[in-house]
Amino acid sequence: MRTELIEAARAVCGEFTLREKWCFAGTVGAALRTRGGAIYTGISIDLGCGLGFCAEVAAIAEMLKNRETRIDTIVAVTPNRILPPCGRCRETMVQLDRANLRTKVIISETQNVLLGDLLPDHWLDGGTI
Ligand SMILES: [Zn+2]
Repeated sequence: MRTELIEAARAVCGEFTLREKWCFAGTVGAALRTRGGAIYTGISIDLGCGLGFCAEVAAIAEMLKNRETRIDTIVAVTPNRILPPCGRCRETMVQLDRANLRTKVIISETQNVLLGDLLPDHWLDGGTI
């Protein structure tokens, strides 16, 4: 299951230039599996003005379209490596559903951590899971 998720993220990853200068998408790909077993993917967007969003957010938006909020496992990748989620993505996952403090985050080819370990003492509930 872990390999399937990494492969799903790698399948959508691949940077391409948008129509405007200095605007790219797909530099990072992400995949998540919900508690219900569905897999959703997303890609990053990087605009020349500094706006954009992470691949994890795109995958989360796909999940929300299907009215799911509980993430079992998530991973983000470039073609060459696995990336831990940024602080904004960590916070987003918890505020969607505080049970996501138990989300397994794939941070390397061999290692998972719980989202709650990446956000200890969360302000929503004082760190209680
Ligand atoms: Zn992020």
